[in-house]
Amino acid sequence: LFVTFEGGDGSGKSTQAARLTTALVSAGERVVRTREPGGTPLAETLRSLVLEHGHGPIDARTEALLYATARASHVDQVIRPALRRGDVVVCDRFVDSSLAYQGFGRDLGLDEVSELNRFATGGLSPDLTFLLDISPEDGRARRTAGRRDEDRLESEPDAWHASIREAFLQLAAAAPERFVVIDATLSQDEITARITDAVTTLRRT
Ligand code: C5P
Repeated sequence: LFVTFEGGDGSGKSTQAARLTTALVSAGERVVRTREPGGTPLAETLRSLVLEHGHGPIDARTEALLYATARASHVDQVIRPALRRGDVVVCDRFVDSSLAYQGFGRDLGLDEVSELNRFATGGLSPDLTFLLDISPEDGRARRTAGRRDEDRLESEPDAWHASIREAFLQLAAAAPERFVVIDATLSQDEITARITDAVTTLRRT
């Protein structure tokens, strides 16, 4: 079972991925929790190359290729082996993030980014994807209240975050059999309950 979490920055994906993992482990499942970009040494290095400043501007195609490269390594070394063993894989971001951020956000277009990622993943798709939906204002408030560095994020205008949000919602609408959209402003416990219910239901079918 391959479960992914998607959503804007500050939507609480990592918290919920951790909570789902705890719930599944308590239920006796073997779980691999991982994240993108990252998940292998090579992919974590690529993550810092893309996300840290100091390398000069990264054009959209280079960025899409770096994310796809990181993803290929992650799928080959972590995700597929875990799925083959019968483990549940819980992954914070996957191809949908590239479709939203590189496809819509950086205007590369869905088809090309989709094609690139089909190559990178060998066609692997999640069984279930939770979209934690949050408005730019709420996302910003949470990031400011929390830890995050990140001048990079705060330099993006709300309009940009809003377009990423719309992109995620469109992706969800186009694949309702895989997506569960959850209002990220609900309480953390309520969100966790919805997520574990959906996973348990799918596990039973
Ligand atoms: O979810 P996380 O905070 O790890 O994501 C790091 C950042 O990478 C996000 O802020 C997002 O803007 C960016 N990102 C991206 N394209 C992706 C994945 C992440 O631009 N495909």
